[in-house]
Amino acid sequence: MFVPKGNYEITVDEALDNSQSFSVVFEKEEVSRKIEDFYYKGERPEDIKALKNAVKRGIFDAFSGLTGKSLPWGILTGVKPVKIVRELYQKGRSLEEIFDYMKEYYLLNDDKAGLLIETLKNQYEQSSEKSSDNVGIYLGIPFCPTRCVYCSFTANVAKKGEIERYLEALYKEIEYVSSKMKEKGIMTESFYIGGGTPTTLSAEQLDDLLNRIFSSFDMSRCMEFTVEAGRPDTITREKLEVIKKYGIKRISINPQSMNEKTLAAIGRLHSPQQIREAYKLAKDVGIELINMDLIAGLPGEEPEDFKRTLDEVAAFDPANITIHTLALKRASKLKEEDSEFNYREVEKLENMVDVSRSVMESLGYKPYYLYRQKYMVGNLENIGYAKPGTECLYNIKTMDERQTMIALGAGGISKRYYPGENRIERAANVSNYEIYIERIDEMLERKNQLIFANWQ
Ligand code: SF4
Repeated sequence: MFVPKGNYEITVDEALDNSQSFSVVFEKEEVSRKIEDFYYKGERPEDIKALKNAVKRGIFDAFSGLTGKSLPWGILTGVKPVKIVRELYQKGRSLEEIFDYMKEYYLLNDDKAGLLIETLKNQYEQSSEKSSDNVGIYLGIPFCPTRCVYCSFTANVAKKGEIERYLEALYKEIEYVSSKMKEKGIMTESFYIGGGTPTTLSAEQLDDLLNRIFSSFDMSRCMEFTVEAGRPDTITREKLEVIKKYGIKRISINPQSMNEKTLAAIGRLHSPQQIREAYKLAKDVGIELINMDLIAGLPGEEPEDFKRTLDEVAAFDPANITIHTLALKRASKLKEEDSEFNYREVEKLENMVDVSRSVMESLGYKPYYLYRQKYMVGNLENIGYAKPGTECLYNIKTMDERQTMIALGAGGISKRYYPGENRIERAANVSNYEIYIERIDEMLERKNQLIFANWQ
């Protein structure tokens, strides 16, 4: 018997098999479902995956009946749903067939099934010809000016001298990886500096870091370079000019909200005015492609607040806008303070996500990558929108997981892709930056084992 949190109960016999029924009780009302009624066409109970999915569909059906509600993503729980539709497409299924399959197999509603198909189409149209067999590189700077209340990343408020110590270890990793790549003839397709907030570095530190990167790696095939500027309070003309000097065209400036009260409530020390100024500065300096991240469902925000943020950010006319829905993992301060937050805000959030989709589409932005996370409020999704032709290749490839990705810095997870078997192997750098510094040689060896030792 499985009894999850809340006022409901599901009873399934432990020796589960096809002929059985199970019952669901919700607010004292009980319904039964027969497992055999929920198999997808032609599937058989001997297949454990088919059996599990039949039970999931039955539970979903029972709860939908009892509550009158239906979850937009049906029984689909994975974080990379576009991967599923891509694989079906590559096996020769038509887009119409895939749409129907996602609805019938995973019980997605029309809207989410359509979103997946549209995202897949946009990826194919805009970026497949840009792809290569080269690798993507991620480099992480795990420092931020303050810690946001919803943050569960490896973000640290930097203490004096710590950034310098971190950079020294990172330079060792850059040197090691770049020389191994040269030795093995591995080329870079895209380079992404993320965090934390990379622009927490001073202009001199940023210049030094970029100088190391451009003088160490062979960038002759690199199609895209991104620096997440992230927090507007870290952006200065000097830093943007450093970025521009290296020919970098893509940055991210992440307001999350344009509402002053919300920014203070989530622990960001900048004002909406600083966001406006940072965007203007980046344009003045000549940065071509700017992504702006927003979060739907921030504490205290009503749909009208979110819509105001969306309208103002859209009026900047950035190349990309990424709409996240709030995800509250256990490591976040907000989850510690309000453990029920995820459950209370669902309807508001669905409204925000729907509104954002129609505003984005009316302005010519197309969804081009999408992912879901555990602990998302409302169990919804994050969507990256782009003006056609400005999609971030790195984002698409990261979600697609059919490319080797080398991750440098604390918390980076490198992935080795084996195309013959269509599988990924991973090796992680430790996420605590102090331990990363102490154990840097071990991090290099992990990477060697994963990527270089058996590279053909
Ligand atoms: S800016 Fe991002 S990484 Fe930094 S504290 Fe906020 S959520 Fe975490």
